[in-house]
Amino acid sequence: MTRLPAILGGTPAFAENLYVTRPVVPAFDELCPVIEDLLQSKILTNNGPYVRQLEEDLKNFLQVKHCPVFCNGTLALQLAVRGLGLSGEVITTPFTFPATPHVLRWNNLDIVFSDIDSDSYNIDPDRLAALITPRTTAILPVHVFGNPCAVECIQKIAEKNGLYVLYDAAHAFGVQYARRSIAQYGDATMFSFHATKSFNTMEGGAVACSDPDLAKKLQDMRNFGIIDENRVGDLGINAKMNELQAAFGIIVLSKVAASIEHRRLLFERYTSQLKEIPGIRLQHIRPVTRLNYHYMTVQVDENVYPLKRDVVYASLRAERIMARRYFWPLCSDYPCYRELPSAAPSLLPNAQCLSRQVLSLPLHVDMTPLDVDRVVEILAQLPQHTDAIKKATRLIVFAMRDLTEDC
Ligand SMILES: *Cc1c(COP(=O)(O)O)cnc(C)c1O
Repeated sequence: MTRLPAILGGTPAFAENLYVTRPVVPAFDELCPVIEDLLQSKILTNNGPYVRQLEEDLKNFLQVKHCPVFCNGTLALQLAVRGLGLSGEVITTPFTFPATPHVLRWNNLDIVFSDIDSDSYNIDPDRLAALITPRTTAILPVHVFGNPCAVECIQKIAEKNGLYVLYDAAHAFGVQYARRSIAQYGDATMFSFHATKSFNTMEGGAVACSDPDLAKKLQDMRNFGIIDENRVGDLGINAKMNELQAAFGIIVLSKVAASIEHRRLLFERYTSQLKEIPGIRLQHIRPVTRLNYHYMTVQVDENVYPLKRDVVYASLRAERIMARRYFWPLCSDYPCYRELPSAAPSLLPNAQCLSRQVLSLPLHVDMTPLDVDRVVEILAQLPQHTDAIKKATRLIVFAMRDLTEDC
């Protein structure tokens, strides 16, 4: 006899909400001396000693020449776009977080959406050539869920056409591809240090690059464009990271390797079991990749699994498993972008399909292997209650479809 799913009135599988992620934080005793020091020195911001130390630590960790930090990943990316001097059109993916296309629009650039590869979830390099025009100046790919893009192909296409490559690596901190840090690919790579990311400074971000001029430009731009006491150069903004964030980050960075290892075990436990459930598909990770194991995203293929993604989502939530639909809605379906010629759903079939199937499951350092087993068990057992669940969720799904159509 199987248990009654919570969506049908059974007891939830978890006593407390199980979130997709939880941040790694310093221990109280580790942070206290830092706070004491800050209160004493009264150096709170403006490129202070903790920011400079964090930048040194990040350069070592990411194996890059330069790594200026910012108050968040979005402004880091926005300044990188401007720092590279991009103009005209930039090709990017619709299967991403809103920040990716938004920074292009904030820079008055024309967004060109490319469809993705349905196995890797990343921008499909085979589609790029057809999207390049004389106005194209760059490609902005995203290493989705930490899975490296087709970096070699993208580099070749960029070189052939004289384009910059700027990576959104918000998901990919600590990832290695072909024995190299992911930060070493492209002209510049943005990382987000938001609380939900693999490495966090509560809020924060960085741009890794090898060009010293670009790094200097970005450092000036994050501080209003101030070059020195007598000169203001490029259009800057206030995008500085403060000292408390940086000090917090220095401690968290020392824990990143251990947290990746913890998550690797959970990730492998998930994948070996999820593979056995008909209709649950997994992202195809590129060979020679060392992941950061930060996301456990599955695809609910409604042609095989008897329930639609949104029904599974609602059923998991009833169990207090707070799954997320990353990335739904697609960026190309937002009201601000859907009129773009490249945003037509017929041009983005893989992204459209994936966006309706994806579900991110909880994966973080506060979870145990038994939590993983419990989540998988629920996914494996829901199909046994298909008819009852379909009946119970008719209204929920109707309401969600309504939302989908609106956006
Ligand atoms: C989180 C995220 C960002 C934005 O980073 P913030 O630090 O939150 O501003 C950009 N792109 C992607 C793909 C992200 O997931």
